[in-house]
Amino acid sequence: MSDNCLFCKIVEGQIPSKKVYEDDEFFAFQDINPAAPVHLLVVPKHHVTSLQEISEQDAAWLGRLMTLAPRLAQENGCTPGPEGGFRVVINTGAEGGQEVGHLHMHIIGGPRPWDKRAAPAA
Ligand code: 5GP
Ligand code: ZN
Repeated sequence: MSDNCLFCKIVEGQIPSKKVYEDDEFFAFQDINPAAPVHLLVVPKHHVTSLQEISEQDAAWLGRLMTLAPRLAQENGCTPGPEGGFRVVINTGAEGGQEVGHLHMHIIGGPRPWDKRAAPAA
């Protein structure tokens, strides 16, 4: 746990969240300001600031994080199959649009149209 990290506090239960999934390594919850009908955040329980901090030794848990995306998308209301789908976003650093300094994967989906914030940058 990193002091004064919002998502470490959510993982620890010090700040409430709408949890959708938890295991030994990861914690997933509803985004407080959803940009689409489904908007989840998945975080590693250990503090990692951003993708800029990761290296080869992180490949295994990052792979496991990715495998949660289709599972949690379907369990939380994203439409299955090629006509459905979802978006995975990991904003990284200030210029990457990252506002919370604990690595997190957005899972965004549900019927369109979505909020403009969920659209790709122009
Ligand atoms: P970023 O811009 O860092 O990739 O995304 C941060 C996300 O965290 C935003 O989508 C924002 O709505 C969400 N967020 C910020 N504070 C809280 C909070 O206290 N609780 C929850 N559930 N989400 C938060
Ligand atoms: Zn943290």
